[in-house]
Amino acid sequence: MSNILDTLKHISEEITNEADWGQPAQYIPELAEIDPAQLAISVCTADGKTHSTGQSDKPFSIQSVSKVFSLIAALGRTGDQLWTRVGCEPSGTSFDSIVLLESERGQPRNPFVNAGAIVTTDALLSGREPKMALAEILGLIRAMAEDDDIHINAEVAKSEQRTGERNKALAHYLASYGNLLNPPDLTLGTYFHQCAIEMTTVQLARAGRALAGLDGAPNILPALRARRLNALMMTCGHYDGSGDFAFKVGLPGKSGVGGGLLVIVPGRVSIAIWSPGLNKYGNSKAGTRAAARLSRSMGWSVF
Ligand code: GLU
Repeated sequence: MSNILDTLKHISEEITNEADWGQPAQYIPELAEIDPAQLAISVCTADGKTHSTGQSDKPFSIQSVSKVFSLIAALGRTGDQLWTRVGCEPSGTSFDSIVLLESERGQPRNPFVNAGAIVTTDALLSGREPKMALAEILGLIRAMAEDDDIHINAEVAKSEQRTGERNKALAHYLASYGNLLNPPDLTLGTYFHQCAIEMTTVQLARAGRALAGLDGAPNILPALRARRLNALMMTCGHYDGSGDFAFKVGLPGKSGVGGGLLVIVPGRVSIAIWSPGLNKYGNSKAGTRAAARLSRSMGWSVF
Protein backbone atom coordinates (compact mmCIF):
# COMPACT_ATOMS: atom_id res chain seq x y z
CA MET A 1 0.00 0.00 0.00
CA SER A 2 1.38 3.42 -0.89
CA ASN A 3 1.98 6.00 1.79
CA ILE A 4 -1.32 7.80 2.50
CA LEU A 5 0.06 11.28 3.13
CA ASP A 6 2.24 11.24 -0.03
CA THR A 7 -0.76 10.07 -2.05
CA LEU A 8 -2.97 12.83 -0.58
CA LYS A 9 -0.34 15.49 -1.38
CA HIS A 10 0.08 14.20 -4.92
CA ILE A 11 -3.69 14.16 -5.59
CA SER A 12 -4.19 17.63 -4.08
CA GLU A 13 -1.42 19.03 -6.26
CA GLU A 14 -2.85 17.44 -9.41
CA ILE A 15 -6.37 18.69 -8.70
CA THR A 16 -5.15 22.19 -7.85
CA ASN A 17 -3.17 22.34 -11.12
CA GLU A 18 -6.20 21.20 -13.13
CA ALA A 19 -8.22 24.12 -11.66
CA ASP A 20 -11.51 22.50 -12.75
CA TRP A 21 -13.53 23.38 -9.67
CA GLY A 22 -17.15 23.85 -10.75
CA GLN A 23 -19.43 26.42 -9.13
CA PRO A 24 -20.63 26.54 -5.50
CA ALA A 25 -24.36 26.04 -4.83
CA GLN A 26 -26.06 29.16 -6.17
CA TYR A 27 -29.50 28.66 -4.61
CA ILE A 28 -28.27 29.17 -1.03
CA PRO A 29 -27.02 32.79 -0.97
CA GLU A 30 -24.59 32.21 1.94
CA LEU A 31 -22.85 29.44 -0.01
CA ALA A 32 -22.90 31.07 -3.46
CA GLU A 33 -20.05 33.47 -2.66
CA ILE A 34 -17.51 30.88 -1.45
CA ASP A 35 -14.26 30.65 -3.46
CA PRO A 36 -14.49 27.30 -5.30
CA ALA A 37 -10.69 26.92 -5.62
CA GLN A 38 -10.29 25.10 -2.30
CA LEU A 39 -9.63 21.46 -1.47
CA ALA A 40 -9.19 19.69 1.86
CA ILE A 41 -8.89 15.95 2.46
CA SER A 42 -8.63 14.03 5.75
CA VAL A 43 -8.26 10.29 6.20
CA CYS A 44 -8.65 8.47 9.55
CA THR A 45 -6.92 5.11 9.64
CA ALA A 46 -7.50 2.04 11.80
CA ASP A 47 -4.42 2.86 13.93
CA GLY A 48 -6.20 6.02 15.19
CA LYS A 49 -4.18 8.47 13.08
CA THR A 50 -5.61 11.24 10.86
CA HIS A 51 -3.75 12.30 7.71
CA SER A 52 -4.74 15.57 6.02
CA THR A 53 -3.92 17.97 3.19
CA GLY A 54 -5.32 21.43 2.38
CA GLN A 55 -7.53 23.53 4.66
CA SER A 56 -8.51 20.57 6.82
CA ASP A 57 -9.16 22.79 9.86
CA LYS A 58 -11.55 25.14 8.06
CA PRO A 59 -15.23 24.53 8.94
CA PHE A 60 -17.57 24.16 5.94
CA SER A 61 -21.34 23.70 5.64
CA ILE A 62 -21.97 19.94 5.71
CA GLN A 63 -25.49 20.30 4.20
CA SER A 64 -26.74 16.87 3.09
CA VAL A 65 -23.89 14.99 4.73
CA SER A 66 -25.95 15.75 7.88
CA LYS A 67 -28.60 13.35 6.53
CA VAL A 68 -26.40 10.41 7.52
CA PHE A 69 -26.33 11.62 11.12
CA SER A 70 -30.01 12.54 11.32
CA LEU A 71 -30.80 9.07 9.97
CA ILE A 72 -28.67 7.42 12.67
CA ALA A 73 -30.40 9.55 15.31
CA ALA A 74 -33.91 8.87 13.92
CA LEU A 75 -33.28 5.12 13.69
CA GLY A 76 -32.09 5.24 17.30
CA ARG A 77 -35.39 6.85 18.25
CA THR A 78 -37.93 4.97 16.08
CA GLY A 79 -36.04 1.79 15.10
CA ASP A 80 -36.97 0.06 11.84
CA GLN A 81 -40.43 1.64 11.91
CA LEU A 82 -38.89 4.52 10.00
CA TRP A 83 -38.81 2.29 6.91
CA THR A 84 -42.62 2.35 6.78
CA ARG A 85 -42.37 6.08 6.01
CA VAL A 86 -39.31 6.20 3.75
CA GLY A 87 -37.88 3.62 1.33
CA CYS A 88 -34.34 2.41 0.64
CA GLU A 89 -34.21 2.45 -3.15
CA PRO A 90 -32.13 4.81 -5.30
CA SER A 91 -34.30 7.48 -6.92
CA GLY A 92 -32.42 8.31 -10.11
CA THR A 93 -33.74 11.84 -9.63
CA SER A 94 -32.14 15.06 -8.41
CA PHE A 95 -31.75 15.79 -4.70
CA ASP A 96 -34.78 18.08 -4.52
CA SER A 97 -37.08 16.26 -6.96
CA ILE A 98 -40.80 15.96 -6.26
CA VAL A 99 -41.77 13.72 -9.22
CA LEU A 100 -41.78 10.29 -7.56
CA LEU A 101 -43.71 11.47 -4.52
CA GLU A 102 -47.01 11.42 -6.37
CA SER A 103 -46.77 7.91 -7.86
CA GLU A 104 -45.39 6.57 -4.56
CA ARG A 105 -48.11 8.18 -2.50
CA GLY A 106 -45.94 10.44 -0.40
CA GLN A 107 -43.30 7.85 0.51
CA PRO A 108 -39.87 9.19 -0.48
CA ARG A 109 -37.59 6.71 -2.23
CA ASN A 110 -34.76 6.97 0.32
CA PRO A 111 -33.62 9.04 3.33
CA PHE A 112 -30.92 10.90 1.37
CA VAL A 113 -33.05 12.75 -1.20
CA ASN A 114 -34.46 15.92 0.37
CA ALA A 115 -38.02 14.56 0.70
CA GLY A 116 -36.71 11.48 2.55
CA ALA A 117 -34.46 13.54 4.78
CA ILE A 118 -37.38 15.82 5.68
CA VAL A 119 -39.37 12.73 6.77
CA THR A 120 -36.36 11.47 8.75
CA THR A 121 -36.01 14.81 10.53
CA ASP A 122 -39.76 14.79 11.18
CA ALA A 123 -39.43 11.35 12.84
CA LEU A 124 -36.55 12.63 14.96
CA LEU A 125 -38.55 15.68 15.98
CA SER A 126 -41.54 13.56 17.10
CA GLY A 127 -43.44 16.31 18.88
CA ARG A 128 -40.40 17.82 20.63
CA GLU A 129 -39.09 21.37 20.39
CA PRO A 130 -36.79 21.69 17.32
CA LYS A 131 -33.93 22.68 19.61
CA MET A 132 -34.16 19.29 21.36
CA ALA A 133 -33.92 17.39 18.05
CA LEU A 134 -31.06 19.62 16.90
CA ALA A 135 -29.26 19.07 20.21
CA GLU A 136 -29.63 15.33 19.64
CA ILE A 137 -28.10 15.48 16.12
CA LEU A 138 -25.29 17.79 17.26
CA GLY A 139 -24.65 15.63 20.33
CA LEU A 140 -24.44 12.53 18.15
CA ILE A 141 -22.02 14.16 15.68
CA ARG A 142 -19.85 15.52 18.49
CA ALA A 143 -19.75 12.10 20.14
CA MET A 144 -18.90 10.35 16.85
CA ALA A 145 -16.12 12.89 16.13
CA GLU A 146 -15.10 13.06 19.83
CA ASP A 147 -15.00 16.82 19.40
CA ASP A 148 -17.39 19.33 21.01
CA ASP A 149 -16.32 22.24 18.81
CA ILE A 150 -18.98 21.56 16.14
CA HIS A 151 -21.77 24.12 15.66
CA ILE A 152 -24.67 25.30 13.52
CA ASN A 153 -24.15 28.39 11.34
CA ALA A 154 -27.41 30.28 11.96
CA GLU A 155 -26.79 32.62 8.98
CA VAL A 156 -26.66 29.68 6.56
CA ALA A 157 -29.85 28.24 8.08
CA LYS A 158 -31.62 31.61 7.74
CA SER A 159 -30.36 31.98 4.19
CA GLU A 160 -31.92 28.65 3.25
CA GLN A 161 -35.08 29.35 5.20
CA ARG A 162 -35.52 32.53 3.12
CA THR A 163 -34.95 30.87 -0.23
CA GLY A 164 -35.90 27.20 0.22
CA GLU A 165 -39.19 27.23 -1.70
CA ARG A 166 -38.56 23.78 -3.17
CA ASN A 167 -38.07 22.20 0.25
CA LYS A 168 -41.19 23.97 1.53
CA ALA A 169 -43.12 22.51 -1.41
CA LEU A 170 -41.76 19.03 -0.63
CA ALA A 171 -42.71 19.30 3.06
CA HIS A 172 -46.26 20.43 2.31
CA TYR A 173 -46.66 17.71 -0.33
CA LEU A 174 -45.50 15.08 2.20
CA ALA A 175 -47.96 16.52 4.73
CA SER A 176 -50.78 16.16 2.18
CA TYR A 177 -50.14 12.39 2.25
CA GLY A 178 -50.02 12.34 6.05
CA ASN A 179 -46.29 11.60 6.03
CA LEU A 180 -45.30 14.51 8.31
CA LEU A 181 -46.24 14.23 11.97
CA ASN A 182 -45.24 17.77 12.90
CA PRO A 183 -46.28 21.12 11.35
CA PRO A 184 -44.26 21.46 8.09
CA ASP A 185 -42.63 24.73 9.23
CA LEU A 186 -41.28 23.13 12.42
CA THR A 187 -39.85 20.15 10.56
CA LEU A 188 -38.36 22.40 7.87
CA GLY A 189 -36.81 24.77 10.42
CA THR A 190 -35.14 21.77 12.06
CA TYR A 191 -34.01 20.40 8.68
CA PHE A 192 -32.51 23.74 7.55
CA HIS A 193 -30.57 24.07 10.82
CA GLN A 194 -29.31 20.49 10.63
CA CYS A 195 -28.03 21.17 7.08
CA ALA A 196 -26.25 24.31 8.37
CA ILE A 197 -23.96 22.36 10.73
CA GLU A 198 -20.32 23.18 10.03
CA MET A 199 -17.41 20.77 10.36
CA THR A 200 -13.80 20.56 9.24
CA THR A 201 -12.65 17.58 7.17
CA VAL A 202 -10.73 16.33 10.23
CA GLN A 203 -13.92 16.35 12.31
CA LEU A 204 -16.00 14.74 9.56
CA ALA A 205 -13.48 11.97 8.89
CA ARG A 206 -13.38 11.27 12.64
CA ALA A 207 -17.19 11.17 12.77
CA GLY A 208 -17.10 8.54 10.00
CA ARG A 209 -14.93 6.09 11.97
CA ALA A 210 -17.94 4.31 13.49
CA LEU A 211 -19.43 3.84 10.01
CA ALA A 212 -16.14 2.33 8.84
CA GLY A 213 -16.09 0.12 11.95
CA LEU A 214 -12.57 1.26 12.86
CA ASP A 215 -10.96 0.10 16.11
CA GLY A 216 -11.08 2.84 18.71
CA ALA A 217 -14.16 4.53 17.18
CA PRO A 218 -16.82 5.46 19.75
CA ASN A 219 -19.17 2.53 20.21
CA ILE A 220 -22.28 4.26 18.88
CA LEU A 221 -23.46 2.27 15.90
CA PRO A 222 -24.49 -1.40 15.99
CA ALA A 223 -22.64 -3.34 13.24
CA LEU A 224 -25.81 -4.27 11.32
CA ARG A 225 -26.94 -0.63 11.23
CA ALA A 226 -23.50 0.50 10.03
CA ARG A 227 -23.60 -2.10 7.23
CA ARG A 228 -27.04 -0.94 6.12
CA LEU A 229 -26.07 2.72 6.23
CA ASN A 230 -23.05 1.96 4.06
CA ALA A 231 -25.33 0.13 1.59
CA LEU A 232 -27.62 3.18 1.43
CA MET A 233 -24.66 5.52 0.99
CA MET A 234 -23.37 3.37 -1.87
CA THR A 235 -26.72 3.21 -3.69
CA CYS A 236 -28.30 6.57 -2.83
CA GLY A 237 -25.60 8.86 -1.36
CA HIS A 238 -25.11 11.00 -4.46
CA TYR A 239 -28.67 11.33 -5.82
CA ASP A 240 -28.81 10.77 -9.60
CA GLY A 241 -24.98 10.71 -9.54
CA SER A 242 -24.90 7.63 -7.25
CA GLY A 243 -24.18 5.18 -10.06
CA ASP A 244 -21.44 7.43 -11.39
CA PHE A 245 -19.85 7.69 -7.93
CA ALA A 246 -20.00 3.90 -7.40
CA PHE A 247 -18.53 3.39 -10.88
CA LYS A 248 -15.64 5.80 -10.39
CA VAL A 249 -14.95 5.52 -6.65
CA GLY A 250 -16.36 2.12 -5.68
CA LEU A 251 -17.12 3.20 -2.11
CA PRO A 252 -20.11 4.24 0.03
CA GLY A 253 -20.28 8.01 0.32
CA LYS A 254 -22.55 10.95 1.10
CA SER A 255 -22.31 14.35 -0.52
CA GLY A 256 -23.64 17.77 0.41
CA VAL A 257 -24.18 20.91 -1.68
CA GLY A 258 -21.65 22.66 0.56
CA GLY A 259 -19.05 20.58 -1.34
CA GLY A 260 -18.43 18.05 1.43
CA LEU A 261 -18.07 14.31 0.95
CA LEU A 262 -17.94 11.58 3.57
CA VAL A 263 -16.52 8.39 2.07
CA ILE A 264 -16.22 5.09 3.93
CA VAL A 265 -13.79 2.26 3.27
CA PRO A 266 -15.40 -0.41 5.48
CA GLY A 267 -12.96 -1.83 8.02
CA ARG A 268 -10.11 0.32 6.74
CA VAL A 269 -10.48 4.11 6.73
CA SER A 270 -12.92 7.01 6.93
CA ILE A 271 -12.38 9.87 4.45
CA ALA A 272 -13.73 13.45 4.39
CA ILE A 273 -13.19 15.73 1.40
CA TRP A 274 -14.25 19.34 0.89
CA SER A 275 -14.18 21.37 -2.28
CA PRO A 276 -17.15 23.75 -2.68
CA GLY A 277 -17.54 23.74 -6.50
CA LEU A 278 -20.24 21.31 -7.67
CA ASN A 279 -20.79 19.02 -10.66
CA LYS A 280 -24.08 18.70 -12.55
CA TYR A 281 -25.54 16.40 -9.87
CA GLY A 282 -24.87 18.90 -7.06
CA ASN A 283 -21.93 16.88 -5.70
CA SER A 284 -18.42 18.27 -5.19
CA LYS A 285 -16.73 18.32 -8.60
CA ALA A 286 -13.06 18.30 -7.56
CA GLY A 287 -13.92 16.30 -4.42
CA THR A 288 -15.40 13.46 -6.47
CA ARG A 289 -12.27 13.39 -8.67
CA ALA A 290 -10.10 13.35 -5.57
CA ALA A 291 -12.12 10.46 -4.10
CA ALA A 292 -11.81 8.46 -7.34
CA ARG A 293 -8.03 8.94 -7.51
CA LEU A 294 -7.54 8.20 -3.83
CA SER A 295 -9.59 5.01 -4.00
CA ARG A 296 -7.73 3.87 -7.10
CA SER A 297 -4.21 4.73 -5.87
CA MET A 298 -4.79 3.03 -2.52
CA GLY A 299 -6.73 0.03 -3.88
CA TRP A 300 -9.67 0.91 -1.64
CA SER A 301 -12.66 0.12 -3.91
CA VAL A 302 -14.88 -2.51 -2.31
CA PHE A 303 -15.19 -4.22 -5.68
N1 GLU B 1 -29.89 22.02 2.49
C1 GLU B 1 -29.83 21.55 1.13
C2 GLU B 1 -31.24 21.48 0.58
O1 GLU B 1 -32.11 21.04 1.29
C3 GLU B 1 -29.21 20.21 1.12
C4 GLU B 1 -29.07 19.61 -0.27
C5 GLU B 1 -27.75 18.91 -0.46
O2 GLU B 1 -26.80 19.14 0.28
O3 GLU B 1 -27.66 18.12 -1.41
O4 GLU B 1 -31.51 21.86 -0.53
